Amino acid sequence: MPADSLTVPPAAADLGAARDLLRRVWGHGDFRGLQPGVIAQALAGRDVLAVLPTGGGKSVCYQIPALLRPGLGLVVSPLIALMTDQVEALKQQGVRAARLDSGLSMDDRAAVWRAARAGELDLLYVSPEGLAQPHTQDRLGELPLSLIAIDEAHCVSQWGHDFRPDYRTLGRLAELFPGTPRMAVTATADQRTRDDILASLRLNDAQVFVDSFARPNLQLSAIAKESASRARTDAAVVDLVRERRGKSGVVYCGSRDGCERVAQALRDAGINAIAYHAGMDAGERDRRLERFLAEDAAVMVATIAFGMGVDKPDVRFVIHADPPGSLEAYWQEIGRAGRDGDPAEGITLYGPSDIAWTLRRLEGRPMDEAVKAAQVRKARQLFAMLDGAVCRPQAVRRYFGETDAAPCGVCDICGDPPVLDEVTVPAQKALAAVQRLGERFGRGRVIDHLTGRTKDAQPWETALSTWGVGAELSLNAWRAVIDHLMFEGLLVEDPNEGKPVLRLGDPAMVRAVYRGERAIAVRRAPERARPERPRRNAGRNLAAEALDGPTRARFDALRAWRRERAAEQHVPPYVIFQDRTLLEIAAIRPRDLDALAGISGVGTGKLDRYGAAVLAVLAQAD
Ligand code: ADP
Ligand code: ZN
Repeated sequence: MPADSLTVPPAAADLGAARDLLRRVWGHGDFRGLQPGVIAQALAGRDVLAVLPTGGGKSVCYQIPALLRPGLGLVVSPLIALMTDQVEALKQQGVRAARLDSGLSMDDRAAVWRAARAGELDLLYVSPEGLAQPHTQDRLGELPLSLIAIDEAHCVSQWGHDFRPDYRTLGRLAELFPGTPRMAVTATADQRTRDDILASLRLNDAQVFVDSFARPNLQLSAIAKESASRARTDAAVVDLVRERRGKSGVVYCGSRDGCERVAQALRDAGINAIAYHAGMDAGERDRRLERFLAEDAAVMVATIAFGMGVDKPDVRFVIHADPPGSLEAYWQEIGRAGRDGDPAEGITLYGPSDIAWTLRRLEGRPMDEAVKAAQVRKARQLFAMLDGAVCRPQAVRRYFGETDAAPCGVCDICGDPPVLDEVTVPAQKALAAVQRLGERFGRGRVIDHLTGRTKDAQPWETALSTWGVGAELSLNAWRAVIDHLMFEGLLVEDPNEGKPVLRLGDPAMVRAVYRGERAIAVRRAPERARPERPRRNAGRNLAAEALDGPTRARFDALRAWRRERAAEQHVPPYVIFQDRTLLEIAAIRPRDLDALAGISGVGTGKLDRYGAAVLAVLAQAD
């Protein structure tokens, strides 16, 4: 950890200049959260690791010091989509930014280097592969660098969930550019991943900043799948999206097939749904991403191939048709909703076949046994949260080390606290039954055995001590117990080529249940369909739905204007202005450029470029 007590605090003037820049270029009134601390460290030339939640404003943490310090700021970023977006947004703000990626022509590359050498570039984005090229390093070596930022730094760690081998080479930056301060930023990193980032990137004396993972504008919920039937799940997803018609969202699916199927089902229901997965070539994926960014109320139906680096701020919901593989991945994926701070939802569908599938997939991966075991544990922790009864964000934030996190008050658990039934004894019976039956049968057959209903039961079966001992629970209650045991990793479903069988899970955990050291509780199923509970507004911000007539008309006019500007320049609309900025403009209705400049998200670059046009749109809309 930081040994910083001896260092001199950075001059207050430095932060003052940073704040001026934030106002002038980004149009934001002041820093948020840990931004000033992180920026002060970098301005003072020191290394930093900053763990800030998605939407927490990580990019200005390195962009501002890179601009204020002399020399070129270098940003290492894992994805072209991410680079393109950030560079476009910076250019719109009047910052001299460029990217070097594999898609660039030789001429364009040469032009970038020329600009860099002439001192006409403030920020240069590169991929780790690009940076690994000796000629890139040679050229960078000739330039004064202000700062090196490593975005999505958790990719360096094999304990994390987005491991990229290329990131491992970034530790060399320490020797290649010894005097240059380096900053690693990420939105997800538990202690182990953090340690790995510090070690791999050789950030030995870095000050570490970890912000709260709270995302108060997100309303989270999890829904147990009624059956393993794909058609049922698809229909449930269609219903959920339909209820959110007119909003932009992301639906995550576990497979390419699933993606295509769900996208089709949504289109059949009249939703503008776009499938996206790694089975498509890069050009096709780019076109689809562009459509998602440009079209209103588009729904992206995607595998995890989609996401990292997609900074669309106005995604209003993320639905997992199939759950992710860990709490880190969960938090990152639902974190793509509501980046603008306005209310948004994260809804996860999950079932026992999903955890079986997740574990099976891990089983087949070629990786170190210790790493594999860590991944299996991560999957179990995710399902335990989904099927648990603890406030969702509280559970995740505790997992990330925020032990004092309070219940969020808006998730499904907080909104409608489930009644828990203690089922330790039935759980012991179920585990014993699976064991006595030789781990050869599936859930239905095990329940038949417990309740003494097996058709034509043979003497060997009726002689077992577990035969018919489960009369105290209904069939549905038994299903819930067994499913929950799977979510907790006490039972494992082996697909057995289409005839799934239950086996015992982790022996130490099973033993703890037998001994009564580990209590088991399940959520009581609702008696009948729950009445629709009034939806609480999760955010404190202006919401587009709640606008009065004239404000709505101004907002719509501004959006139409923005769409045209975006199409002309081939950039996503939010690069011009984000929804929340347009909402504020529509609500406040500034009469002149000065008033317009006071709105968050309107810096001088944008004011010069678009100020007059925005005022004209407002005048027309009245
Ligand atoms: P992330 O941490 O997810 O990379 P970004 O850097 O993309 O987040 O920032 C998320 C959003 O928050 C952007 O729209 C950005 O302009 C905005 N933002 C960043 N810093 C501030 C601030 N100090 N005040 C207001 N908005 C900010
Ligand atoms: Zn909650």
